[in-house]
Amino acid sequence: MLLFILAGFISFSTNAADCSEKIVIDSVEYKLPERWCDKKLDSLDMADPDKLTKLPDSLSFESYRIYVLPETKEALLLMSTQARKDSVFLIVDSGFRSVGFQKRIIKNRLMAGEEYQKVISYVAPPGYSQHHSGLAVDFVPSEAMFAKTKEYLWLKTNAGYFGFYETYPEDTTGLIPWESWHWTFDSDSLNH
Ligand SMILES: [Zn+2]
Repeated sequence: MLLFILAGFISFSTNAADCSEKIVIDSVEYKLPERWCDKKLDSLDMADPDKLTKLPDSLSFESYRIYVLPETKEALLLMSTQARKDSVFLIVDSGFRSVGFQKRIIKNRLMAGEEYQKVISYVAPPGYSQHHSGLAVDFVPSEAMFAKTKEYLWLKTNAGYFGFYETYPEDTTGLIPWESWHWTFDSDSLNH
């Protein structure tokens, strides 16, 4: 009994650096990469699916059905309208993703023959992706070359005015991969 209580206490007190979670894909357990320890989204930060709203086709890559929270959509519409005036065309290919969808992304890459270590280096573990929040979007092309586009340069200068920030900027330590295409809305960070 005492051991049980102690074990409970220890696991509670080490929650601050919780790396113990296993990523389960198709009943296979994988290790949580260290850089994601403690980065799991709080359930309060997960978007309420009932609140999600679809982005207009004019903003969606190949008319994908992309959903985000209303405040994200509103800020994105304002931002893209301003960008168009500067001949910059912001197109989104990913918004809200459920935990199940995030698992499928990983599963599909594994089934295509990629190593787990490689996949998890650029796909967030299920439950850890900012895309669960309904606040994050990926701009097209959602790959490394986005950093070389005029869209990226425009975002670097202007996105802050609309409440968007680059979540994973170029990192000199090399620990966090640079995701120039991934931007998140945060109304608290609005630079007026
Ligand atoms: Zn993203």
